[in-house]
Amino acid sequence: LFPFLLHYLVTRSTSYSTLPAVLLLGPSGSGKTALTTLFERGPYLSSSESEKPSLQDAVPATHTSQTPQTIELSISTDDTSTTSYKTDLDALGAPHKKFLLIDTPGHAKLRNAALSRLIDSKYSLNPSTTSKSTTTDNNKLKAVIFLVDAAGLSEDTSGSDTSLASTASYLYDALLTLQKRATSAKGSKAPPSIPVLIAANKLDLFTALPAALVKSNLEAELGRIRAARSKGLLDSGVGVDDDLAGGGGDEESEWLGEYGSEKFSFKQLMEFDIEVDVIGGNIVGDGPGADKWWRWIAEKI
Ligand code: GDP
Repeated sequence: LFPFLLHYLVTRSTSYSTLPAVLLLGPSGSGKTALTTLFERGPYLSSSESEKPSLQDAVPATHTSQTPQTIELSISTDDTSTTSYKTDLDALGAPHKKFLLIDTPGHAKLRNAALSRLIDSKYSLNPSTTSKSTTTDNNKLKAVIFLVDAAGLSEDTSGSDTSLASTASYLYDALLTLQKRATSAKGSKAPPSIPVLIAANKLDLFTALPAALVKSNLEAELGRIRAARSKGLLDSGVGVDDDLAGGGGDEESEWLGEYGSEKFSFKQLMEFDIEVDVIGGNIVGDGPGADKWWRWIAEKI
């Protein structure tokens, strides 16, 4: 009996540190805090009159701290196609799995810190500069959710964090970090792939673009950014002398997707084992809700 008891105690006490993690990225104002709170309160929203969470239920004051906020959640391992964040799995005694949702600040100045969480310490891109900032939980990072404001992309919100240009530039950096992570393990075993969900939020608003348009607009904008950055690198001569940017890459390693291709598409990232899905939803108001995102998580972790 003793070895079993010991095993139980050890796994119990270390369970927190070995949980799979989902990283939540996205510009400020896209709804990261609202989503974190919605998922956290999910099981308490299941009574019929609060089927649709109201603004007051779901949305707290946005958290302004500069450190990521991590919450522990339970998700069904039984039937991932019908599971909901509102199901109280503990009460049902249904089989479930715990995972961590890591919310990150979306402010432009803090994005690099958020992105450093994508870099697995074992496959560090630049050991001399990232070794201090990497944390052990990077090894269990299972998926990334990149939240976008589908209404912000359609309106002329130039200059705001949730505009198409600003959103796409953050997304470009996030995807390029994942691409570098995949290519950095030279010769040795590639790091486990991290799928990305682009969650097109605020579909309750009539100005919001449907998910298919969010996808094509982002692809077009990512293509423009790719061309502009590549031109910038060539003009500055970095492509010729890699060391100029302190080890930060040549033209090819800074290029997102299929090198030299004219149009960018998310499919090009499959070459680097990065799967990208775009799914619409909303956190407040009337619309498709957040269950499809929840099911995506259930499938990936
Ligand atoms: P964060 O900066 O990414 O953490 O964004 P917040 O969670 O603070 O949300 C920014 C604003 O968007 C808040 O005023 C939310 O009420 C609002 N918001 C979030 N999700 C939705 C949604 O699905 N629909 C609508 N209409 N507003 C939303």
